[in-house]
Amino acid sequence: MEMKYLLASHVGEFNLDNGADIRWQGDGEEIASLPNLRRLKVLAVLDLSPNMRRITFGSSKLKRFDTHSALHAKLLLPPNGGQLCLPKLTPRGTIDWGSDTERAIIRKYTIRRIDPQAGTLDIDFVLHDHGGPGSRFAAHAKVGDVIGMIGPGGGSARPAQWNLFAGDETALPAIARLIEALPAGARGVAIIEVADRQDEQTIRQVADIEITWLHRNRSIRTNALARRVAAIELPADRSVFAWAGTEFSNFRKIRSDWRSPNRLAKSDHLAVSYWRDGHAQT
Ligand SMILES: Cc1cc2nc3c(=O)[nH]c(=O)nc-3n(C[C@H](O)[C@H](O)[C@H](O)COP(=O)(O)OP(=O)(O)OC[C@H]3O[C@@H](n4cnc5c(N)ncnc54)[C@H](O)[C@@H]3O)c2cc1C
Repeated sequence: MEMKYLLASHVGEFNLDNGADIRWQGDGEEIASLPNLRRLKVLAVLDLSPNMRRITFGSSKLKRFDTHSALHAKLLLPPNGGQLCLPKLTPRGTIDWGSDTERAIIRKYTIRRIDPQAGTLDIDFVLHDHGGPGSRFAAHAKVGDVIGMIGPGGGSARPAQWNLFAGDETALPAIARLIEALPAGARGVAIIEVADRQDEQTIRQVADIEITWLHRNRSIRTNALARRVAAIELPADRSVFAWAGTEFSNFRKIRSDWRSPNRLAKSDHLAVSYWRDGHAQT
């Protein structure tokens, strides 16, 4: 299907077909739906804390999403006040996203827990005050609502003898999942920034990761996370991996600290901007 899509979109892009139709024959000819797209139906909604809501979804064929090397997915949400229109594969091989008013809105989220056999997965949504489609969907979600999911995607942390995790609440689902998967004997630290004490969560682990919670306490956003991460001494006698997911300005500071001379090799860290203050996700 990917091959059909790539060829058909290039042919269209360079106008090589002069408007002529494209017909496919042979292997994969019958594929009519996107293999990486799933319909998710809301099964349950649970408030984990004042600013974090867990939604349990039911779906089918979830095996490809059950991987620790790609924890994230793109959620396809209905446009403001509109109906959800999931993309379709056209006979030509391109993707039909619907008209501009129907087109699903895409936001990236982490799969917090997944059970392909039961056909369920959890996603933890931050309920923020700025009213984007992701947060808004979570705030109003009810049992039976349907959205789409495409993926999986995104990089992950490589388990090391000593592990560093840093992030704000948007990365808490990823950090919790990564810590839970570490084996006994793995050590390290996690610095997690949340709104206040009530937004802390219990992370179960067999490893030995010391977790420090930072609280914004309703103050405006600061670079406290980046400053705290920069102060961490990295052990020189063990394998190390450092992972961060946070707001853009903290991400930039953390990544430049980790990339500074004698700090971390490129293969030993991954820092990702999870969202950007004042900017909707694109
Ligand atoms: C790989 C990846 C995985 C992610 N996993 C998760 C996850 O599991 N759970 C989760 O909640 N988020 C997660 N995020 C972050 C999430 O995608 C963004 O916060 C996204 O912007 C939310 O979309 P929205 O529609 O609510 O807001 P948008 O429409 O994108 O933005 C609207 C406004 O809200 C502001 N805004 C966006 N997010 C926040 C926030 N957290 N706090 C305050 N203001 C905000 C923006 O700056 C903008 O001004 C992840 C991001 C990435 C890249």
